[in-house]
Amino acid sequence: MAPGPNTPRLSSLPAVESLLIQDDTAGLIAEFGRPAVTRTIRGVLAQVRKNLLANSEAAVPDDSSLIHTVTRRLRDADAPSMRRVFNLTGTVLHTNLGRAALPEEAIEAVATAAREATNVEFDVPSGRRGDRDVHLEQLLCDLTGAEAATVVNNNAAAVLLVLNSLGNRKEAPVSRGELIEIGGSFRLPDIMARSGCRLHEVGTTNRTHLSDYADAIGPKTGLVMKVHTSNYVIEGFTAEVPEVELARLCRERGVPLVVDLGSGTLVDLESYGLPHEPTPAESIANGVDLVTFSGDKLLGGPQAGIIVGRAALVAALRRNPLKRALRVDKMTVAALAAVLRLYSNPERLAKRLPALRLLTRPLKEIHELAARMRDLVVPGLEGIASVETAHCESQPGSGALPTREIPSAGLAIRSAAQARNSGNAIERIARAFRELPIPVIGRIQNGALIFDLRCLEDEAAFVDQLPSLKIPLAKTK
Ligand SMILES: *Cc1c(COP(=O)(O)O)cnc(C)c1O
Repeated sequence: MAPGPNTPRLSSLPAVESLLIQDDTAGLIAEFGRPAVTRTIRGVLAQVRKNLLANSEAAVPDDSSLIHTVTRRLRDADAPSMRRVFNLTGTVLHTNLGRAALPEEAIEAVATAAREATNVEFDVPSGRRGDRDVHLEQLLCDLTGAEAATVVNNNAAAVLLVLNSLGNRKEAPVSRGELIEIGGSFRLPDIMARSGCRLHEVGTTNRTHLSDYADAIGPKTGLVMKVHTSNYVIEGFTAEVPEVELARLCRERGVPLVVDLGSGTLVDLESYGLPHEPTPAESIANGVDLVTFSGDKLLGGPQAGIIVGRAALVAALRRNPLKRALRVDKMTVAALAAVLRLYSNPERLAKRLPALRLLTRPLKEIHELAARMRDLVVPGLEGIASVETAHCESQPGSGALPTREIPSAGLAIRSAAQARNSGNAIERIARAFRELPIPVIGRIQNGALIFDLRCLEDEAAFVDQLPSLKIPLAKTK
């Protein structure tokens, strides 16, 4: 490199070796290992050199400031990328934010299963190999009235396993009104194609009759499938066939009826003051042969796909090699068993199970929380934004009760007049909340940042970090 005005300043930078032997660096080497520390020092020095060349007025950092930068980079790189956030979106079971939070009982069960060896697939009395379903099957049968039950990784896997086991190289009639796509690219026709089962569309988008199914069932039919259209409703001039009637038809014609419930809560939500959502127990009572539903939607447990129904059909699912590929791990078994045990006592359930506790949280309590939080959020936004308490509408999320909103309360943050002309002021404020140590996730609606406080239970942690809020000022032209 030709000597320029900056060259002497560059040569005053320390060598990698000299930073490595400093006292402060010893602790970093012990924590992160010499290769990572060396690599990071090199990276930091390279960047400083570049800055000095580009800007003749830039100051040459001293050793302690260089080591400070190295420490910060090492810590940032070491931080887990998946971490806790505050879900103030108003969507209680938010798929992108991990759906259901687990009850303490389940968290303890997961920790135990993770820490030690367990009898996940071992029959202790006989000393022989066991089946991981035994830890869940009886609980599920008791809660749904089914003869048998099995569990896979998620409900999409449950649907795939059922279709492949009963419908490979065969046909499955499905109503045109139920050919759904739910978020995250789960499209029923696509899953069906991958399962080797041929979709036989029946009826029309808004109306399907029993005779449509009756005409469609033939020698090639492997199963009839009914899907709970979780995330939308068809209104107006509509007709769908009740499960009981369809089950009777399927029994007469000797083909199994499968219902994909999606969310599938295990309790009558109406008794908790929420709108009704179909339960697996109702489907089983209606004569449905297999029911599939999620573990981490309204059920409030870990990610899992649950299949309950006739013993002979569940046995066929277990024989399918796909079952092995889709199996749940021991931590899921532990968590799901703990959650299902909570269901044995409906009184305790609403207190212990976060999904249900949050969905049934008294409106008055949320309003009081909003008033308290407003006063604490205001100081950090002085002169930047106004903060008002607001009525809002929560939703269960994950496709459950799609058209039912639950009255809630929260904060509405609107950028102040002087900041407004920059256009994206509200996005900047939203980003500042996401940049807090525990990111706060809200939603922007009609130009306001809305924090629905239904899901804020750890008030102290939320309040503690408010002083770290830093809203960058709009760039002035
Ligand atoms: C959510 C849902 C699924 C997929 O369940 P996952 O547990 O997310 O895999 C399938 N079918 C219906 C009707 C659903 O609502």
